[in-house]
This record gives sequence, C-alpha cells and structure tokens, in this order.
Amino acid sequence: MQSLVFIMRKQLFTVGLLLCMFGKATAQSSNILDTVYTLRDGQATATMPVRVIKGIEPGPTFAIVAGIHGYEYPPIMATQQIMQSIDPAKLHGILIFVPLANTAAFYGRTPFLNPIDQKNLNNAFPGKKKGTITEQIAYTLRTEVMDISDYFLDIHAGDANENLLPFACFYNNTLFPAQTKAAEELCRIAGFEYVVSYPYTLQPTDPAKYAFKQASQQGIVALSLEAGELGNVQASNVQLLQQAVMNMLQHVNMYPSSQSLASPTIKMLRNQSYVRVPVQGIFTSSIQAGDAVQQGQTLGHIHDVFGKLLATITAPNSGIVLYKIGTPPVNEGETLFCIGTEE
Ligand SMILES: [Zn+2]
Repeated sequence: MQSLVFIMRKQLFTVGLLLCMFGKATAQSSNILDTVYTLRDGQATATMPVRVIKGIEPGPTFAIVAGIHGYEYPPIMATQQIMQSIDPAKLHGILIFVPLANTAAFYGRTPFLNPIDQKNLNNAFPGKKKGTITEQIAYTLRTEVMDISDYFLDIHAGDANENLLPFACFYNNTLFPAQTKAAEELCRIAGFEYVVSYPYTLQPTDPAKYAFKQASQQGIVALSLEAGELGNVQASNVQLLQQAVMNMLQHVNMYPSSQSLASPTIKMLRNQSYVRVPVQGIFTSSIQAGDAVQQGQTLGHIHDVFGKLLATITAPNSGIVLYKIGTPPVNEGETLFCIGTEE
C-alpha cells in the first residue's frame, strides 16, 4: 500500500507541471509536450530540453534522464530511440524524458564537466536556483522533473576515458524500504547481468551530489543504468539500454513490450572498492572491465614519460572490475579501478 500512496501523491503534482509548462512549450500533439529550459548566469546560457508524453490511461510518472555527462553517448542514443518509439495510446501514466541534460558538455565534447563553469552536473545536487549554470541545471532537473516523478532513472556510461562493464544500480536506502525494494526489482528485470547495490549513508539534510542519489533521498524509486564506454557509440550497448528501459516500463505496467523480458542470472555486487591513481603518469594494463581479479593481483603499471616505473597497481580485494580508466593518461587521485564484490 505504501507504494500506491506515494504514486498517487505524485500524480497530482504532474497535472500541475503539464498546465504550467504550456506557456513555454511546444505541443507535438495533445499528448506530447516539448519544452526547452534556458538557464542564464551572467553572459553564459545553457539549455535543457524536456519531453513529456502523457498516456491515454492513468498511471505513474516515470522520468528518464540521459546526458548528465555529455560525453556518454549510448545512453543519449538509446533515449532518442525510446522517445520516438512511445505511442501515447499504449501508455499508462506519464513519461518525462530529459534526453540531453548537459547540452553544453555534449556539443562541447567535454568529459564529466560542463565547459561553461567546469562543474560536474553529477556532483551538483540539490542544485541552486541562482547558482552557476551547472547548479541551475541540477536545480531545474530536481524541481521540474524529479519532484513530480514516482520513478527516476538516470542513464550513464563509461565516459571518454572509461572502460566499463554494463550494470544496473541502486542505493540501499533503508529510510525508504518500499522504494528501495522497487528500485532493486527494476534493476533485476532490466536484462543486465550485473546489479550493483551502493551503500546509502546520507542524512536527510546532506547534499546528495548525485542525481539519482538525490531522488533516492527524496523517497523516489531511483536507479541508474551504466552501459557504454570510451567516448563512442556501441550498438550493442544502445540496444541493451533501450531494452532495459522497455523492460522496466512493462514491469510497472506503463507500456506493453512486444519482446519478452530477458532474464539472465543476476550477479549482485553489494560491495565496491576503489583504487585511486597514486601518481600522475602513463598507465598500462591488460585487465578489462568485467574481468575477475584476485586480491594482490597486478592490475597495471604507471610509468613516467621517460619510461621509469612509478607505480605497480595491485587489487586490494578479489572481485569483478566494474570500470577502470581505459586510456593512458592518469592523474593522482582519480579512480583507476572500481572492483565489485558478489554477495
Ligand atoms: Zn556518467
């Protein structure tokens, strides 16, 4: 029952959003509304496009966000496909798409950061109404999209320099057990082999920083997908993401899927360890994301520009490499490897 209550509460707000958005929006049809938010900070401006698709039948509100990191292309391309494929006549509830949250980073081809203010949008939540461009995008995404959503899905990939194993993930937020259980369920039916449960230790007033952690903090069913890597579009990862979203929409009875739900054996990774770069240099490694590694195993080396060995990197524990830096340059303090451990 708890889940029904929070879903119904959100629907009331969504009607308000649709009404107040009409002034600055373009209606594609009576059920599809495109809006471009313009954010300003002094001379700098940025845009954030949003498409709302209202189903013929009532139902929950599901937000799908891509491009918080503008160099992570498979999520952006998958979201394009999903948006075009939705028929409002078959939809129960409301879909809110943010197909390109960080437009300046996308067109500026900038990994991680918005080139206007050099800030990471996925480190900026809850955002600020009168902050820098990135802080304003976070604020707008939170107040215009997240606050009215029952489900919040933030789609990412390995960035320009990251080699990544596809996985679905959620926060183990025990303050909202029903929503956390629902998020885990969506991760499990996505069709991804690996599901990652992140620890959640935020206090209610702590800044969440990350978009879907913010949603989790607010008691929204929040999750993320990660598929794609190294600043490129892999068709297989686009397909994986597209199918995962359709699986989720079918699972919550919002949209029928013609394809049956994929059901690989799930490997749940409940612990993660992070290996930081000890020293700037040129990184080499024969390990790939998805490899199983043993504690103490050599993962790679860092040399200086004259070929002198600066550091040998070893695994702090056994597990599966979820992602790693996949290109030669490394800087002190960066995450070099993330290793997940099975339950
Ligand atoms: Zn990302």
